[in-house]
Amino acid sequence: MAARGSGGSGDRVAIIGGGVTGALCAVRLAERGFRVTALEQAHIGNGSSSRSAAGIRTQWSVAETIRGLRYAEWWYGQLHEALHTPLEQRQPVIRRNGYLFLYEDPERVELVRRTQVAAAWALGQANVARQQAEGAQVETLTPADVAQRWPWLDADRLIGAAWGPDDGFLHPHVIYGEGFRRARELGVEVLTETAALGAQTTGDRITTLETTRGPLAVDWVVNATNAWAPRVSQRLGGMPLPVAPMKRYLYHFEPTQPIMSAADWERLPMVIFGMGPGRGVHARPDGPLLLVGGASAAEPEPDFSDADQDAIGDGFNHAVGIENAAYDLLAQLVDFSPALANCGGVKATTCGFYAMSPDGSPLIGRDARLANLVHAVGFSGHGVMHAPVTARLVEALLAGDARDGAVPLPEQFGVIHLDAFDPARDFSAAHAESAVL
Ligand SMILES: Cc1cc2nc3c(=O)[nH]c(=O)nc-3n(C[C@H](O)[C@H](O)[C@H](O)COP(=O)(O)OP(=O)(O)OC[C@H]3O[C@@H](n4cnc5c(N)ncnc54)[C@H](O)[C@@H]3O)c2cc1C
Repeated sequence: MAARGSGGSGDRVAIIGGGVTGALCAVRLAERGFRVTALEQAHIGNGSSSRSAAGIRTQWSVAETIRGLRYAEWWYGQLHEALHTPLEQRQPVIRRNGYLFLYEDPERVELVRRTQVAAAWALGQANVARQQAEGAQVETLTPADVAQRWPWLDADRLIGAAWGPDDGFLHPHVIYGEGFRRARELGVEVLTETAALGAQTTGDRITTLETTRGPLAVDWVVNATNAWAPRVSQRLGGMPLPVAPMKRYLYHFEPTQPIMSAADWERLPMVIFGMGPGRGVHARPDGPLLLVGGASAAEPEPDFSDADQDAIGDGFNHAVGIENAAYDLLAQLVDFSPALANCGGVKATTCGFYAMSPDGSPLIGRDARLANLVHAVGFSGHGVMHAPVTARLVEALLAGDARDGAVPLPEQFGVIHLDAFDPARDFSAAHAESAVL
């Protein structure tokens, strides 16, 4: 089996993984003249890309992520132009309803939580200052501002909020659907039902990728398998990757008694109902329903199967009693908006895997053992929003665009220092992303 493509630099690249990351990397690399083959073990969108809450925000704490997400928000706004989508099939990609982080007033919570709640607000304000310094459209709001804009929220409970009006949510199926369509148009061979099994190496380079369809000669391999990434790296002879597949649940809440007009519902932002320990439940509209997510106790599942992605664990199915995670999340919501929490009920439970890294930032960079293996994995719950900048970084790594370790973005967004995402970096808490939900 031979890789084919459009010429240019002519290097043969195999991209493993048929999600948003693989799709946008395939387009970028094909545009630069690489001869790309994309492999997906099942079907396009088999992984987390089709199971995501799909939020997008610049409200992060790591400077490279804030900068990258400013770029991504811009890029998603012109996805169809970038991907040359035929006019008649252009569907919405991004909805800029905003992201609203609510912070509790330490004076209004139980004594035992007071210190944590105060620390969360201090960190929230420091993050806003950092985001503003990076040029992100983010501001702090007073409880009175919140009450005026979103009267269904109990603003008396708050000390303040962080508001990003350019943030919002994405439509992932359009991203990977149009991404792979454009990739094919550019000459990329997209092989579904094709798994990467192993690699033949010479010295520190992969020469041949072993796949379920036979050997594939390569100059580069991109590991875009996110939650599967550690086992794929191991099979290829690459470095151990500290990426933990962690099950995450989403609940569809159906309002039965409307508490706002249909137009206000349509404009609802993604709201994060408190930060810090025991908080972090978030919700946003999904048509007439509300999509509710949040952290829940889960153990890493390093050997998960494809089917496990949809397996709902004991204690997580909304339909089985009220002693389950769905109602734990709703209980958090009640504290901030009894009107919202009590206006309907949970109708569906879905799930998928976060690929958690130790510091909450992705691993994008060269393998420490194999010089021509590049990882773009470990997105820790923000891989859909990150995909445009991920693809730019992978392109830069293969094409040699980085200067002194920095990858230029379009001028208004600055540069991304590759160190921040190096798969072999120091994962100590000092550099940890503090705004992972
Ligand atoms: C409940 C939930 C909520 C989320 N919310 C958000 C959010 O609000 N915003 C956000 O940006 N992100 C969110 N995420 C995270 C986001 O979905 C992921 O980070 C993103 O989809 C990763 O995309 P990917 O293309 O890197 O990986 P995936 O979409 O997981 O694709 C990896 C692909 O690799 C394939 N593969 C694996 N092994 C092999 C092999 N050996 N050979 C060939 N193919 C292989 C798999 O079949 C899979 O299709 C959420 C995730 C979940 C589960």
